[in-house]
Amino acid sequence: SKKAVWGPLVGAVDQGTSSTRFLVFNSKTAELLSHHQVEIKQEFPREGWVEQDPKEILHSVYECIEKTCEKLGQLNIDISNIKAIGVSNQRETTVVWDKITGEPLYNAVVWLDLRTQSTVESLSKRIPGNNNFVKSKTGLPLSTYFSAVKLHWLLDNVRKVQKAVEDKRALFGTIDSWLIWSLTGGVSGGVHCTDVTNASRTMLFNIHSLEWDKQLCDFFGIPMEILPNVRSSSEIYGLMKAGALEGVPISGCLGDQSAALVGQMCFQIGEAKNTYGTGCFLLCNTGHKCVFSDHGLLTTVAYKLGRDKPVYYALEGSVAIAGAVVRWLRDNLGIIKTSEEIEKLAKEVGTSYGCYFVPAFSGLYAPYWEPSARGIICGLTQFTNKCHIAFAALEAVCFQTREILDAMNRDCGIPLSHLQVDGGMTSNKILMQLQADILCIPVVKPSMPETTALGAAMAAGAAEGVNIWSLEPEDLSAVTMERFEPQINAEESEIRYSTWKKAVMKSMGWVT
Ligand code: ADP
Repeated sequence: SKKAVWGPLVGAVDQGTSSTRFLVFNSKTAELLSHHQVEIKQEFPREGWVEQDPKEILHSVYECIEKTCEKLGQLNIDISNIKAIGVSNQRETTVVWDKITGEPLYNAVVWLDLRTQSTVESLSKRIPGNNNFVKSKTGLPLSTYFSAVKLHWLLDNVRKVQKAVEDKRALFGTIDSWLIWSLTGGVSGGVHCTDVTNASRTMLFNIHSLEWDKQLCDFFGIPMEILPNVRSSSEIYGLMKAGALEGVPISGCLGDQSAALVGQMCFQIGEAKNTYGTGCFLLCNTGHKCVFSDHGLLTTVAYKLGRDKPVYYALEGSVAIAGAVVRWLRDNLGIIKTSEEIEKLAKEVGTSYGCYFVPAFSGLYAPYWEPSARGIICGLTQFTNKCHIAFAALEAVCFQTREILDAMNRDCGIPLSHLQVDGGMTSNKILMQLQADILCIPVVKPSMPETTALGAAMAAGAAEGVNIWSLEPEDLSAVTMERFEPQINAEESEIRYSTWKKAVMKSMGWVT
């Protein structure tokens, strides 16, 4: 049959903590044409440890690409129209591999992993000069969350990693680097690079000079020769070396939260988005200026869309556990069979009936940065059932967002008038309504929810040498939005929020 005529298309890899997706967009209309998704396994070898298999991640990317291309074929769309590929990825997750064999030397240590808690404690006692040494260079608090301490742990504890470093065979990367190196040829000529947004999450990167920082590398004991080259978020890094899209340039790379900021078109100072995935991340564009928070937020690189383009920064409120609490109710308690089912349970009761759930499984991130916190469910009575617990889990996600939004409003001075949202959890309408009620401002969700992938596709399509996607605001066709208006009164929501704060206090100090 005759193939339909299409303009240039752009593909995007969205490698998240829960799943991998590949999506293909029309570069003229931003319309999503086809996609495929594969869930990723998580291993919990010890309490607090979270690992993933780098090869499973890589294979899932290839599988998603092949399946999406098959689906496009069924739609009569010629895959040779795909002119560029962008990569967006879970951030901070740390991989070390052998450049001669292409084999990972240990599992990927996932951002949520807590094994480095004692490393962080001992490092924090040795911070040189004033206590601001790490934060002033990186915008980040010293925490188990970021790559430097995970890499430090691997170098200290894994003989294979030590040996490969001695033999000059070791390469370090976050997931973007691991994927781009592998997809562009791996052992036969793979490109070892990362972009400024991913680099800014390692704690080894100076966010002012946009270079790896020698003093930080010395402090964390990291040999600089294993680090990837840092590039902008939008330029041709290399070509796909195998598979259905062999020869297509990989020309966009953004950490997932930056990608969502771009995909939501938050290009102006003060524009913000909140993404509800495994965790929850609120980012606010602060323009060319690094703004440092007085309220527990991070300063991070938002994007740099081209080698000669200026860098943009963001203030970020990071919540470790959001969708992960739903997955926990599914996998550990078994009270739901699918994540979607939580909506049905929550709807049955429409209230937590005084039950509060603080899912501090990995300590608390913003605004507390409290590694000693652990999860609690409190306020239980004889009356409490699984529906109330399900409701409390959803409410916890909303309360945590309220905490980071409050911090953001204080740091920025101008309160947000509405909240732009996206991510896997936003398909849950009860959650969205609760969120509007708890924030007392409207929650606005684009009808095309795959904004992370869209941002990566935009970066790839706009790259020099590709030039098929314009980032001029007037060209970004009006996206349709779904709105959730606050329905309960502010006073009622204040009471619930202050009880939540009491519960948070109880979750702290469980481990010392
Ligand atoms: P990530 O990018 O971190 O991989 P996603 O944006 O893909 O995450 O969202 C997946 C997360 O959202 C999972 O933790 C899942 O449990 C949760 N989730 C998905 N659908 C729903 C739903 N309808 N209600 C509540 N949580 C959901």
